[in-house]
Amino acid sequence: MHDHLNRLRIVVLGGGTAGWMAANLMAHRWRERNVEITVLESPEIGIVGVGEGSTPQLKAFFDTLEIPEAQWMPVCGATYKNGIRFCGWSRQPGFDSYFHPFLSAIDQHTEPAFFLNCSLRRGGFDVPAHPDRFFLAAELARKRLAPLPAHHFPFFVSYGYHFDARVLGAFLCRHALQLGVRHLQGKVRQVRLAGNGDVAALETEDGRVLEADLFVDSTGFRALILQQALGVAFRAFADNLFNDAAVTLPTPPAPDGVRCNTTATALDCGWVWDIPLRDRTGNGYVYSTAFCSPDAAERELRAHLGMLDAPVQARHLKMRVGRVERHWCRNCLAVGLSQGFIEPLEATALHLVLATVDGFMDAFEASGFDPAGQTAFNAAINRRFDGVRDYIVCHYRMNRCRDTEYWRANAEHHHLSDSLKAILTCWFTGRDLRQEIERQGIGDIYPPLSWHCLLAGYGQFPDPAKLRRDPQADARVNLAAVDDFVSRCALNFSSHGAALATR
Ligand SMILES: Cc1cc2nc3c(=O)[nH]c(=O)nc-3n(C[C@H](O)[C@H](O)[C@H](O)COP(=O)(O)OP(=O)(O)OC[C@H]3O[C@@H](n4cnc5c(N)ncnc54)[C@H](O)[C@@H]3O)c2cc1C
Repeated sequence: MHDHLNRLRIVVLGGGTAGWMAANLMAHRWRERNVEITVLESPEIGIVGVGEGSTPQLKAFFDTLEIPEAQWMPVCGATYKNGIRFCGWSRQPGFDSYFHPFLSAIDQHTEPAFFLNCSLRRGGFDVPAHPDRFFLAAELARKRLAPLPAHHFPFFVSYGYHFDARVLGAFLCRHALQLGVRHLQGKVRQVRLAGNGDVAALETEDGRVLEADLFVDSTGFRALILQQALGVAFRAFADNLFNDAAVTLPTPPAPDGVRCNTTATALDCGWVWDIPLRDRTGNGYVYSTAFCSPDAAERELRAHLGMLDAPVQARHLKMRVGRVERHWCRNCLAVGLSQGFIEPLEATALHLVLATVDGFMDAFEASGFDPAGQTAFNAAINRRFDGVRDYIVCHYRMNRCRDTEYWRANAEHHHLSDSLKAILTCWFTGRDLRQEIERQGIGDIYPPLSWHCLLAGYGQFPDPAKLRRDPQADARVNLAAVDDFVSRCALNFSSHGAALATR
């Protein structure tokens, strides 16, 4: 069998989180192989330096690299994340906020009760169907408990992190160097193409020429190699994801202890994240410039944070939301913002980076630069991007804020994928959403529990005034037993503060 890795020279262009993640994963997995990896980055250009929330995929990343939490978390100001609380996205009474939990094995015990109550409520019965009381992660976040169970608790609990994006990049750089990755600094002024159209070399402003067999484009929104040099097309998601800018402003850590969840609160023309780190809280207003100027957004963020006159500088960023048509083209793989970005509502960017690099390594080991392998890989990553997009679009489409033009436009547009249309039709006609997600084969992107939490969390049920009593409600779901189960499970977890002191 041909060894595609033998004497493979890889140049990763870009030293943001994406570039360093790719370099680490490749250097780790191919450490026994004859693979040479160089990272080239430009300190003059710098990194985007935002992106402080993760999914559980980040834990899988550190586990793969065998880096214990105690080694990276304190350095990166990191905290635990049980999930995301969405506040103010719905004006339905009783649904002013809800929690999107990360899934855990223990949820299988309470999920059937939640699904049943959702189904009854969709059918017009007055039963409790708010997601929060059914899931352990929401309880852990509410009580500020870290998602680290006591040794005798026999269930795996999944979780993510919050972290300082700048420090994480520097940490990953040091780790990559230990794995034998070469680190160069310099600004690329030209991408040289070979006669057959492949990328031949990168030429820096000071005249160095870097040749390689494989180029990883991690140049952020610039997408210098994949989009600019190879001309791969970009598909904007602007017709159903309106946000294209963000303004950020840090605040001191909460005086009553560090929370262990992200909060996403709806404002007039977007939403603001609240990400608790050890030494500060990261805040960022993600908004649409079609509905709000950067100055107005900054003012609204400052007012929201009680910092109208505070002498703290805000940072303004533009976002390019969408994805490329092909993430791997010829001998170039795009990783990170260069391959696309779906706005940060579910903190999925690094998740997609890791899925891209893992999927690429599998495909490359199997068939090198074989076009059929590339086509299958690109289809798989596009499917993942589009699946994440649909879930995020659904948040906006289901909002019940309705008091600004921005939220009305989000609730009323008709640019939905067939997949999302089928999910919404299924929900509103009272059919089984689990079956629909299974039929579409998209449960690996967001499982039925996540979809139920979103739709139930925004109170997408028949008009409360028209609900009728379910005479068998008590016999069907024993809610006292659910509450008791969740609160007794939570007894197996210690405080977030105590957990951080050991990590
Ligand atoms: C507002 C906002 C909020 C976000 N929130 C989240 C979140 O909560 N969770 C999450 O997972 N992600 C989030 N993200 C995304 C996250 O920030 C990125 O996915 C992540 O930082 C990786 O970025 P990157 O490495 O692709 O690009 P960058 O950090 O921009 O790095 C690009 C690199 O390329 C180099 N480079 C560019 N051009 C050249 C050149 N000509 N020569 C040499 N080097 C060059 C630069 O020097 C730099 O090193 C957010 C993004 C934005 C904009």
